[in-house]
Amino acid sequence: MFHRLVYILLMLLVMISLMVSISPGSTVITTSSIETVTLNTEEVFDTKQNEGSLQVRYLHLKADRKSGDSIFIQSPDGYTMLIDAGMVDTGEQLDRYLDHLSVDQIDYVIATHPHHDHIGGYHTLLQSRKIDTLLMPELPHTTEVYSVFLNKMIEKNIRPTYVKEGDRFKLGENIDVEFLSPSEGELEKARKEKKLSTRDINNLSLVIKVTYQDHSFLFTSDIYQKQEKQLVHFKKELLDVDVLDAPHHGDSTSSSQAFINAVKPRYTIMSANIFQSDKVYERYLKSGSEVYATSIHGNILVVSDGETIRIIPEKKVKR
Ligand SMILES: [Zn+2]
Repeated sequence: MFHRLVYILLMLLVMISLMVSISPGSTVITTSSIETVTLNTEEVFDTKQNEGSLQVRYLHLKADRKSGDSIFIQSPDGYTMLIDAGMVDTGEQLDRYLDHLSVDQIDYVIATHPHHDHIGGYHTLLQSRKIDTLLMPELPHTTEVYSVFLNKMIEKNIRPTYVKEGDRFKLGENIDVEFLSPSEGELEKARKEKKLSTRDINNLSLVIKVTYQDHSFLFTSDIYQKQEKQLVHFKKELLDVDVLDAPHHGDSTSSSQAFINAVKPRYTIMSANIFQSDKVYERYLKSGSEVYATSIHGNILVVSDGETIRIIPEKKVKR
């Protein structure tokens, strides 16, 4: 009887460890195969040392399966912008990160598209921080997460400013923020549709370019290859940037070779809690880009003083 119990327990352990290492959607590379060498948490969250520079933090939100995107930007003169807020369940993690950075108020928050892994965390944030301006595309969506998000905005008297391709503004004195897609025509068409698929909504994500003197960053949210093709066709001269937030969390729905060739990123960062696709990872490596993923490198800071650029991952890892 005792032996049988031990055997059952052992089998359970084996099954659990298999489930952990082969999470759905992930391919071969798992975080368990990576050896962590050093942890630079304090350095990544140190704002004092980087005062006067552009600071971009790709935040690592941990969840069982999906965790979503969230990127926090501080201009050299102290203005702040948050691109997406991750899942509902990771809202408190994001809140703690902002505490760590001593941020009570955010000048611009962006909801790139109405999916739960991008707007969910705003359920928490709309309560805990003072938000000046909310930017989003004007899109219909009928999920509960979206209606809670809209209700919380109304409660806090925040009216969204709708943005689209061609809109731009300055974050502080020196940072240019420009929206490269979706176009007004695409949004208008989408608003007339009865039902939009996940793919349609992902392709209508705001694509944002942030420029500071010699350096530029591209934030692509969840666009697929279809929208990448449009960007390569119509905006090619604007795509050549230093740092790319890989589309759709580094998934194989996106990151076509033509898009990578146009962007030519020095650094590619994937906001993901699992490594999505080996092929995509290899494609970026072959293009000469350094590739980072929040699932592996933790929170990632990129600092630019306009002339030099540095990347500081929270975890330095050996693969
Ligand atoms: Zn997403």
